[in-house]
Amino acid sequence: MKGRTMYVIPYSMGPVGSPFSKIGIELTDSIYVVLNMAIMTRVGQKVMDQLGDSSEFTRCLHAKKDVNPDDRYIVQFPQDNAIWSINSAYGGNVLLGKKCFALRIASYLGKNQGWMAEHMLILGLENPQGEVKYICAAFPSACGKTNLAMLIPPEYLKEKGYKVWTVGDDISWLNIGPDGRLYAINPEAGFFGVAPGTSVKTNFNALESTKKNTIFTNVAINNDDMTVWWEGLDKNPPVNATEWKGAKVNGVEYTEAGNNLAHPNSRFTAPAVNCPCISPEFENPQGVPVEAIVFGGRRAKCAPLVYQSRDWQHGTFVGATMASETTAAAAGAVGVVRRDPMAMKPFVGYNMADYWGHWLEMGKKLGDKAPKIFHVNWFRKDDEGHFMWPGFGDNMRVLLWILDRCAGKVDADEVAIGYVPKPGDIDVTGLEDENIDMNGLLAIDHDVWMEDVKNIEEYFAQFGDRLPKEMADELEKLKANLK
Ligand code: GDP
Ligand code: MN
Repeated sequence: MKGRTMYVIPYSMGPVGSPFSKIGIELTDSIYVVLNMAIMTRVGQKVMDQLGDSSEFTRCLHAKKDVNPDDRYIVQFPQDNAIWSINSAYGGNVLLGKKCFALRIASYLGKNQGWMAEHMLILGLENPQGEVKYICAAFPSACGKTNLAMLIPPEYLKEKGYKVWTVGDDISWLNIGPDGRLYAINPEAGFFGVAPGTSVKTNFNALESTKKNTIFTNVAINNDDMTVWWEGLDKNPPVNATEWKGAKVNGVEYTEAGNNLAHPNSRFTAPAVNCPCISPEFENPQGVPVEAIVFGGRRAKCAPLVYQSRDWQHGTFVGATMASETTAAAAGAVGVVRRDPMAMKPFVGYNMADYWGHWLEMGKKLGDKAPKIFHVNWFRKDDEGHFMWPGFGDNMRVLLWILDRCAGKVDADEVAIGYVPKPGDIDVTGLEDENIDMNGLLAIDHDVWMEDVKNIEEYFAQFGDRLPKEMADELEKLKANLK
């Protein structure tokens, strides 16, 4: 790093001065990191003023060095409250406030200090009476967090007066508030979103968020008007293009030949305040009270559209056994199941079994004030391999059932895996296909579930004695119920 400029970035995860916020200081040799951190976190003198003489901050060192992937280290030292990142320039590895601090280090701090750092979006749902209820949801990467956080209600619900407010699209810090309920803050200040596939149709609010003060990484450039382009933005790749590596190409011919103009993992870094539906509570230092926690993944056949866990312990089991299937699988075929507990597999800063123990502890502290825990699956497929549920904005219909359950306003059917909606309780009015196969979407195939139970048994076995007894008990209960 000799001869390089050393940048010093004091930053706050969470609103400056919030009792739930944490401070980090990142040293880096990359101006790219500086500019991105200034969008993704709160930076500058106000953070130094807040820190004062305190030594309570996370020490972050990033050296892009020679960006050599064979000598790359992204290392968290929880006991030292420190992060070293060497030989990378990729956002997730170098914007050290995000996954490295706000999930890996923070999950360890949370375990020791009695709070939780989770891979969860936060959204507020406003009803026609103007009441807003908040939901946190954990899905593995590429399973729809950013989309759900910014969803646009279907026309029918919009006309009734329903609204959605985005508090966060990726990370939640959850603390027990003075009234004993669980409160969520979004520790970030921006969105680091995947560009390809983002369009007016798929995520209008995310696209709007990128209209100013935004950094685009590895996208293509339209040289005629110096705008950006990526696969899925629209159907018109620029003719006079620069592809993501910097070569000038005819974008139409280039894409027709099967090349990507933008890197498939190209990104936008956009300030959260740009989002048209950013929550008025976004800067609230106390956070927002959480009504429901929702887990989910991509399951072609197993999980129903939605179900509710029986209680916090069962909900912890539902999160711990979360899984997603590879999307590259042939249509209709069940993909390879990857277990990704609470969508935290790559991010828990200590032993996974102990992390489940921490969830159980938090449930005990919350008691009857604990949020209700649910599981959703937007990705159920029929035998022809088509998605059975329209998803996106229509997911709001499922969220409304979830909130009605939390408020005790709607009954449910108890089945082997928990509670599922009674037929007709998910409002399908105005759905493109009102004859949607709701029975199929909510069906529980016991053979498919027994297969999953086998997979869970193998998965749990690797944790040995460290697996909390409550998790083993819940697995036995599930098995017995299925039989
Ligand atoms: P994140 O990585 O968890 O934030 O996921 P994104 O919100 O970026 O979405 C990942 C991918 O899932 C994108 O290709 C979305 O278009 C797709 N997706 C999101 N929500 C839905 C949905 O409800 N149904 C379907 N079928 N696809 C969805
Ligand atoms: Mn996302």
